[in-house]
Amino acid sequence: MKKIYLDYAAATPVDPEVLKTMRPYFTEKFYNPSAIYLDARKLKNELDEIRHKVAETIGAKPAEIVFTAGATEANNLAVQGIMRQFPEGEMLVSSIEHESILEPAGQFKHREVPVDKNGRILLNKLSNLISDETVLVSVMYVNNEIGSIQPLKEVSGIIDGIRRQRRAKGNKLPVYLHTDAAQAGNYLDLHASRLGVDLMSLNGGKIYGPKQAGVLYIKAGTKLKPLIFGGGQEFGLRSGTENLAAAAGFAAALAAAQQKRPGESKRITELRRHFEQLVSEKIPAAIVNGPDKRAPHLSSITFPGTDNERMMMELDEAGIMCAAGSACSAARDEASHVLSAIGLSEAEARSTLRFSLGRQTTQADIQKAADELARLTASNR
Ligand code: PLP
Repeated sequence: MKKIYLDYAAATPVDPEVLKTMRPYFTEKFYNPSAIYLDARKLKNELDEIRHKVAETIGAKPAEIVFTAGATEANNLAVQGIMRQFPEGEMLVSSIEHESILEPAGQFKHREVPVDKNGRILLNKLSNLISDETVLVSVMYVNNEIGSIQPLKEVSGIIDGIRRQRRAKGNKLPVYLHTDAAQAGNYLDLHASRLGVDLMSLNGGKIYGPKQAGVLYIKAGTKLKPLIFGGGQEFGLRSGTENLAAAAGFAAALAAAQQKRPGESKRITELRRHFEQLVSEKIPAAIVNGPDKRAPHLSSITFPGTDNERMMMELDEAGIMCAAGSACSAARDEASHVLSAIGLSEAEARSTLRFSLGRQTTQADIQKAADELARLTASNR
């Protein structure tokens, strides 16, 4: 039986070209880049080139790129790195952020900004919630369950307005905008200054690169406190011997993802629309969540009256891999906070599956998945 993988939002296979780029750093180029012999110093230069490549891909400067072990760490560094400097400061997060933002935000004074039924942040609510103590606003670029895309430029415009007001009032407290762009790398523009963000988290595991590899973009002039102390690597923000294989793999994956972006966005959008059309035809009760204009790869669908855990297992038996809402919430046996934020009841959230498409997804795959869904919903209701 050919297996059909529809969980690209959780993990992507490493691109063979990316793997080729990584390989030498496990073997002949194993040196510690901080050592002083010539071969190690050459590696230090290679790390600089890798950093340069990442910076170039997102329109940043090399000194603005800090390598991390993925987006969870980048998110933690952004939140804790800013907030630990301002004990009286407050942060705002959208109500549909990933746990790696919500959990660290919970350690500080914070408030949640609601979203509309399409998972789009309410800009007027955001403006009203920003206070004289707000130092950080974290709004994800693409939601990992429903694929909604946040209006980062508008959010950035609001924050610029706040900065102007503060200057006029003599309030010296800075205010920064962070975005978690973990789900955006394959499909959206990542140019940091065009987006108007001060901090941006990216990871390799969703863009056909290695897992536990990623970066935090930190706009020049933005000060952070480190989370990990030691030898002072990564501009003192992330000590530990550099993982060149991970950095090189991430840089190659990011460049390839952005280069393939126009073609893949179009192809995956068409495939996903076709999938949703097939599902709607075969299962009239099914409801597609989120806006029509969203990240190409994500399809969150509610099958009223079904149990998503059971459906997921049965789909697995039929060779189809997908996700129930969010793996993290499922582990805690809580209904998805994202689906609840867009107005789904707990019962609806527990009848919702997430399908995510990627480079290897074909028409035949989505046809088979839709057929199996029709068969299982009929027998599960
Ligand atoms: N943020 C979002 C939106 C994600 O989808 C994920 C992955 O599940 C993460 C953060 C965490 O990324 P990582 O697994 O690289 O730590």
